[in-house]
Amino acid sequence: MSKLLVTGGNGLVGSSINSNYKVGREYNLINFEDTQKMFEKYKPTQVIHCAGKVGGLGGNINYKGEYFYDNIMINTNVIESARRNGVEKLVAFLSTCVFPDNIEYPLIESKIHLGEPHNSNYPYAYSKRMADIQIRAYREQYGLNYVSVIPTNIYGPNDNFSLTHGHVMPMLIHKLYQSQQNNTDFIVWGSGKPLREFIYSKDVAKLSEWAVNNYNELEPIIFSPSYEISMMDLVELLVKEFNFKGKVIFDKTKPDGQYRKPSDNSKLKSYLPNFKFTSIEDGIKETVTWFIENYENTRK
Ligand code: GDP
Repeated sequence: MSKLLVTGGNGLVGSSINSNYKVGREYNLINFEDTQKMFEKYKPTQVIHCAGKVGGLGGNINYKGEYFYDNIMINTNVIESARRNGVEKLVAFLSTCVFPDNIEYPLIESKIHLGEPHNSNYPYAYSKRMADIQIRAYREQYGLNYVSVIPTNIYGPNDNFSLTHGHVMPMLIHKLYQSQQNNTDFIVWGSGKPLREFIYSKDVAKLSEWAVNNYNELEPIIFSPSYEISMMDLVELLVKEFNFKGKVIFDKTKPDGQYRKPSDNSKLKSYLPNFKFTSIEDGIKETVTWFIENYENTRK
């Protein structure tokens, strides 16, 4: 009988995964003893490891040291403690920002270590690359079937809707909500030209449940619809969803970050040719509805 534990269990992805146990902040995974206590208590046979210190462009630029330290400790502790406690299968989350900045597009799984990540988020990116290295080493030395997955920009209910260091989707939703309430201009960072790929959190949850039972390769697997949208077009969808009639301003004094990072999801499609991704319109509708209904209790 398998027993699945999810770290980051109250977060954006973790909250949507069907599992036996979900662990949130009750264990401090930066601390090895605490991590051991978690494994000793639940004795899982499978782990989906979603916990991490994550944020958008603002967070990555302003908290470089914290993003590096917290993530490298959390990953190192969780993977090592899983090994010591006999976990048979572990799925670790990386991110598309692990890819080199200067690389031929599209991004594919085999390219993650070929050059420096973008300078706006290199501490986070390197810490996540090390999770991939740790998994590779553990597979080779201990014969463990641990794997990693690379989701593109995830959004959905239970996200962190911080106005300073959130990811673009939750930040824009929160800002637009405020502009709507207060009749103020809606300020978007940058030129509006950068392109991003988005994946709905519930799709990621389904795919990670699939991965924990079915994905066994050494190389990571990209989770993305591989559909790019510009920030300008994203803003248009959000404005429509809120029925916002006010002014939209693109603040060019704020960073654009990486211009684009298109991915190739061929590997995922070869495993799951019929997987249906939630459309960005439907995902936005559900997320905005959830945000408004849960405004008081959302992480901000
Ligand atoms: P990234 O994908 O790792 O760069 O992180 P984000 O999810 O924060 O996306 C950043 C992109 O969204 C950049 O091109 C920003 O210029 C753009 N963007 C526009 N408005 C905002 C905003 O309010 N917050 C954030 N974080 N990004 C924004």
